[in-house]
Amino acid sequence: MNVMDSHFFEGAFVEAGLSAAVGAQDADLIILNTCSVREHAENKVLSRLGVLTRLKEVNTSLKIVVAGCMAQRMGGEITRKFPAVDLVLGTGRIADIVALTTAKGGAGCMVCTDGMGDAGPERYPYARAGAAHAYVCAMRGCDNFCAYCIVPKVRGRQVSRPAAKIIAEIEALCADGVKVVTLLGQNISAWGRDLGEGRGLAFLLEAVHEVAGLEWIKFLTCHPRDTDTAVFEAMRDLPKVASGIHLPAQAGSDFVLRAMKRGYTRREYLSKVAQLRDFVPQASIVGDFIVGFPGEREADFNDTLSLLEETGFRGSFVFKYSPRPGTAAAHLADDVPMDVKARRNNDLLALQRDVSLAQNRSFIGRRVRVFVEGPSRKNPDELTGRTLGDEVVIFAGSRREAGSFAQVDIFDASAAVLFGREVP
Ligand code: SAH
Ligand code: SF4
Repeated sequence: MNVMDSHFFEGAFVEAGLSAAVGAQDADLIILNTCSVREHAENKVLSRLGVLTRLKEVNTSLKIVVAGCMAQRMGGEITRKFPAVDLVLGTGRIADIVALTTAKGGAGCMVCTDGMGDAGPERYPYARAGAAHAYVCAMRGCDNFCAYCIVPKVRGRQVSRPAAKIIAEIEALCADGVKVVTLLGQNISAWGRDLGEGRGLAFLLEAVHEVAGLEWIKFLTCHPRDTDTAVFEAMRDLPKVASGIHLPAQAGSDFVLRAMKRGYTRREYLSKVAQLRDFVPQASIVGDFIVGFPGEREADFNDTLSLLEETGFRGSFVFKYSPRPGTAAAHLADDVPMDVKARRNNDLLALQRDVSLAQNRSFIGRRVRVFVEGPSRKNPDELTGRTLGDEVVIFAGSRREAGSFAQVDIFDASAAVLFGREVP
């Protein structure tokens, strides 16, 4: 979501006649687009602001903007700590960034954290510069209240964009050369509920599937309770729709799931996965886990390990629990020591590596269609791309292939990536 908002910022400024700076030293305006999900992310921003304060002592005309969730959460506190900041732009005012930063007026900082929840821009002049993949906002905010999560507080209640607007945007993108879109929402599985038309994510996927020129549709993120079988049916029946799903479990023990207020039990999670595999046997499932939630005992953590194995996640994002002010869990004692959190984090990742490796090796000998993203980071003579199920594929090729599709024969795999040869 933040990457998408950053694309919007860049696009909106380019449209207003500005151009991207080479680096911080060269910039007239620096925007820190922030995340509040964990304290660690916030601390990184605070230390960056210290560095930028010193840069502004040299370049006194530099403008510094703090945007996003931290801006929304901390508001004026940021400017009290960092007087060098010119604008604090909350999540409800994202669309106003150009007007607010170019407004003439006195010195001093503006704090804009009002606005209706997470109001996104009506129109998205993304900085896409020939990119063939684009993030498209399907909804903002979230109506769930998971005990650990600050998202509903800083991004507000769920607001779905009407299907017609989403489709019009994707049609325009495809006319511009986009071939792959990723539909975004904090809880995209609840898309449409607030629109009161009785239509959900499966309807949206069907409607987007009709857009001419579009090749692939990916979507993020699904809450297990809110994801219905109509979505699995769409994954099975609509060839453009992703064969992979991001379906965070967060934990494997009923005690922890209840304390997290996730709204499902371990058994319900596993039966959701079984339903998915009935529809799409090869579906690749990516999860999120939090280790060290208040009260998590070793037995609870073992349940998380076994859930990971039983589900057969292709990959997982694992986070150490971080208490967030204003959430329900902030009132609970953060009683799992840091060294225990770190060990559980490592144990879960180690198990995930084994599970991922086994899954990736099952691709060896298969031919897959890959959307080419660009040169691989490690070797400029190799390309990196992704399958419809979001598996990362590395193969030799020319950087001119970026933004196109390739057929690739897989001959090897690690836990993280598949290695292949392009079919001429
Ligand atoms: N909407 C998504 C999650 C958005 S936040 C969902 O419901 O699945 C992304 C991930 O950050 C979460 O899935 C969770 O694993 C992690 N996370 C959120 N709050 C956290 C916290 N307080 N401490 C540690 N990890 C957290
Ligand atoms: Fe946060 Fe996701 Fe739960 Fe919403 S569904 S409160 S975004 S973890």
